[in-house]
Amino acid sequence: DELVSQIAAGEVVERPASVVRELVDNALDAGATQVTVRLLAGGVRLISVEDDGIGIARDELAMALKRHATSKIASLSDLESVGTMGFRGEALAAIGSVSELTLLSRTAAQASAFALHGLSGELRPAARAVGTTVEVKELFFSTPARRKFLKTDATELAHCIEAVRRHALARPDAGFAIWHDGKLVEQWRIASRDQRLADVLGAELLEQSVAVDYSAGAIRVTGRAGIPDSARSRADQQFAYVNGRYVRDKVITHAARSAYEDVLHGQRQPVYALYVEIDPARVDVNVHPTKIEVRFRDGREVHQAVRHAVEYALAAPRA
Ligand code: ADP
Ligand code: MG
Repeated sequence: DELVSQIAAGEVVERPASVVRELVDNALDAGATQVTVRLLAGGVRLISVEDDGIGIARDELAMALKRHATSKIASLSDLESVGTMGFRGEALAAIGSVSELTLLSRTAAQASAFALHGLSGELRPAARAVGTTVEVKELFFSTPARRKFLKTDATELAHCIEAVRRHALARPDAGFAIWHDGKLVEQWRIASRDQRLADVLGAELLEQSVAVDYSAGAIRVTGRAGIPDSARSRADQQFAYVNGRYVRDKVITHAARSAYEDVLHGQRQPVYALYVEIDPARVDVNVHPTKIEVRFRDGREVHQAVRHAVEYALAAPRA
């Protein structure tokens, strides 16, 4: 099972940022309103993600580290809406198979916290408020071939920050902080969605953007589309979400790019955060273990909705 987990880890855990993505995902799933990420050496020495969510009960700590252990498919109807178990319950097991992982958690019902050391299985009482801290040390220590592929600490840190940015844009109702080598490098407080967009993408970007709000049938597209003065904007300033989850999707990217071409004739680099809400039955999120890719039942319908949404938004102030 250890080997199976290590193979799964190859798909889920590519670099420290993959660990950050999964741990922050879990924190938000647990209802956290504050998520603190602490990194040492670009996350290679240490990734610690601390939350104030519901916690994991003492007797469930060991279970959380097992493959396909998930607390998130509670009922048959849940199962149906997910479509398949897909890749649920793999992240912690996969991360634990390629690092030294410690789970530290306390639920509201417990008088103290408990820490479970993944490698030794040692369980001991510990101190912390209600919530969970997952500590991941020495990523890829047992798989030096993978460790060799890691870039400089600065590059790995940048990827980690990007992973948190993606979550932060989806969840303005939670606060985020990122520490690196003892220094606070990013902090986003709970805010409205527009304020969060300004905090994460930059206030000047938000000033030069227009609101997107469009509905077509069962699809709604909201967010902001930027129209900065020049084409100098960065390629990594395009964010797309489907039902609250960050995705990289060709249909959405292409649709948005087409709208920018149509209205601004390619004079501007697309900069946007688009939130697509769609009936969950019309989208399959279990096509990739990281859930970063989705498959729409009707890609054309989504393409049209996104294209129109961005076109109307961009065209409005010029009319
Ligand atoms: P999944 O998120 O797909 O369920 P994971 O391997 O990421 O699988 O996590 C396994 C289980 O561990 C979760 O279903 C959840 O019950 C528990 N868990 C993990 N992280 C947290 C957290 N930060 N707070 C509360 N529970 C957590
Ligand atoms: Mg998870």
